[in-house]
Amino acid sequence: MVLIKIKGLSIHYYTLSGIVHAVDNVSFDIVEGEWISVVGESGCGKSTLAYSIIDLVPPPGRIVSGEILFNGKNLVKLSREEMRMIRGKDIGMVFQDPMTSLDPLRRVGDQVAEVFIEHRVLSSWRDAREKARELLRKVGLPEDRASYYPHQLSGGQRQRIAIAIAMALQPKLLIADEPTTALDVIVQDTIMDLMEGFKKQGTSILFITHDLALAAERSDRIAVMYAGKLVELGSVDQVIDNPAHPYTVALLKSVPDLWGGKKIESIPGYPPDLRDPPRGCRFHPRCPFARDICRKEGPETIEVEQGHIASCHLLRRR
Ligand code: SF4
Repeated sequence: MVLIKIKGLSIHYYTLSGIVHAVDNVSFDIVEGEWISVVGESGCGKSTLAYSIIDLVPPPGRIVSGEILFNGKNLVKLSREEMRMIRGKDIGMVFQDPMTSLDPLRRVGDQVAEVFIEHRVLSSWRDAREKARELLRKVGLPEDRASYYPHQLSGGQRQRIAIAIAMALQPKLLIADEPTTALDVIVQDTIMDLMEGFKKQGTSILFITHDLALAAERSDRIAVMYAGKLVELGSVDQVIDNPAHPYTVALLKSVPDLWGGKKIESIPGYPPDLRDPPRGCRFHPRCPFARDICRKEGPETIEVEQGHIASCHLLRRR
């Protein structure tokens, strides 16, 4: 069943030097209990897309068109207060740097307990603190860490606290924006295991990452973004084994092979300035297959096979 339906979403940043077209006409669904990863280079709009779901697009950013349908409601139209109640209760979020969401001056146990008080699940701080200690155990931390301040914990432990806060009320969706980027590989794996555990209990995961290999390990589906556009979406097998978009192919070629048997090829050039994105297909200045039509017209989205879509003029001739 579809949990969230994103339809024609566009987000702009109104900066002094121009309008940044950060997310452009993006549509896709998030299904109940699935792990969907959004991948792409820095600045491709994947984090902005994730933040928009919980109304946290930072100023001067604004959703300019489109809908985000959840539980029969269009989240784009909700008031601040209505959105605040959905955040945490129905949709949890974990950021790359847990220090941005943790209060450095408060014990972490109290920060977890506060979720139960704020959402009126519990009225007594004593009960809320007990529940917080339970939750700490659930995310693999000893109960005594409840009395620690964020700076007394390691990066991995802080991220576990952030996940405990995000998952306290068992939301239907957990949005994780590069949650393991600042962690070493071993800790990274334990955080991914933790999120996978919540997925097994029915929570959908929207995982934002620049790391295609990491996405491929855990996801059910992968969405590839380039310069604010969703250029390809499909199951992991479809996107990794049979990529349809030249950008996805280039991304795959740039992933290092653990056994060193593959030559790594970086993608030539740089992502475009989204204040003035290229006309036609936004990937055309970097695409080895670009032809005249690519410089004039944006490609339409085509279903390559069931559940696998991509936007590229080359697909028209298949
Ligand atoms: Fe390359 Fe053209 Fe396809 Fe864009 S539409 S990815 S430029 S071939």
